Amino acid sequence: NDMDVQQASRFTVTRNSQAVSADQRAVLLDDPGFGRIFTDHMVTIRYTQGQGWHSHSVGPREPFLLDPACAVLHYAQEIFEGMKAYRVADGSIAMFRPQENARRFAESAERMAMPALPEDMFMAAVEELVKIDADWIPQGDGSLYLRPFMFASETFLGVRPAAEYIFCVIASPVGAYFKGGKKAVTLWVSEHYTRAARGGTGAAKCGGNYAASLIAQAEASEHGCDQVVFLDAAEHRWVEELGGMNVFFVMADGCIVTPPLSGTILPGITRDSVITLARQQGMTVREEPYSFAQWRADATSGHLREAFACGTAAVITAIGTVKSKDGDFTVGNGDGGIVTEGLRATLTGIQRGTVDGPEGWLLR
Ligand code: PMP
Repeated sequence: NDMDVQQASRFTVTRNSQAVSADQRAVLLDDPGFGRIFTDHMVTIRYTQGQGWHSHSVGPREPFLLDPACAVLHYAQEIFEGMKAYRVADGSIAMFRPQENARRFAESAERMAMPALPEDMFMAAVEELVKIDADWIPQGDGSLYLRPFMFASETFLGVRPAAEYIFCVIASPVGAYFKGGKKAVTLWVSEHYTRAARGGTGAAKCGGNYAASLIAQAEASEHGCDQVVFLDAAEHRWVEELGGMNVFFVMADGCIVTPPLSGTILPGITRDSVITLARQQGMTVREEPYSFAQWRADATSGHLREAFACGTAAVITAIGTVKSKDGDFTVGNGDGGIVTEGLRATLTGIQRGTVDGPEGWLLR
């Protein structure tokens, strides 16, 4: 629309004169892994209190020069998003529900006392990067992972919201999130470390949440698990989410259960999409607290048929074995089931443009 065009036209565009050659790029795209290869460009927009958003730029990807007293290095005022651009069936480029990322980014900013980037400016920034780095979108199963982020860039050691910020978007071509394209993930339940408490920052996508989760994720790795399950901070009883994914439980009566958005978990866009699609397909979805004890009991009795994790990076991945200090159990036959598979097929089909989804979900 006019607004987007207006915003987009404010970007100064400088092409990278040292861009990776087409041959080199083809080699890199052959097996991109996750988050280790980056495109040639980045988008930046600056914010200065009293002046607002300015210096919109698309330019070569390059390091930031930061003063040692740069606020983010001390008080972690930083937020980010994670989303993907796909090469869809007809060869065009598509993004899945990017407006939801723009909205969540603004909500994260508010929680972290940062200025909210106007949603149309977020969209224009992401579109600019996808346009200039379009050749970096892998064919087939891969996608271009987009990482918009914003941090306090003011040189000042006082503890208060900074007066200057840098918003930036970088992009990384990715293959499968779990090495070897796993069929099911193994989880470790952290009964000591928690991720977020009521009134805290759990619903915001701020870097600090992830810093706090690393020790628990490391504990999971030590136990041979792919991801950590966090329980609630007050009682260490209720299942909240994984280190970087939301969770769903598929019961024998066909009902699907997922923890409610109580303010302590990230409101996943995949989570919201799964709820919508499952309801459209006639399933009952209940957003209600589910305890770890119940999870173990239901898996053991067979009442729990399937469980899956979902998020932008992993899409929908079955949960197999769950380990904890009180012993392990396996959900169903350990590698998902027809509900998980069906939802995964529908969602990836919508994202790839081969299945029609709800109005407005695929932005081309
Ligand atoms: N929970 C956490 C903690 C996450 O980091 C993510 C990834 N953004 C999710 C859930 C899933 O969110 P989304 O579906 O929007 O990627």
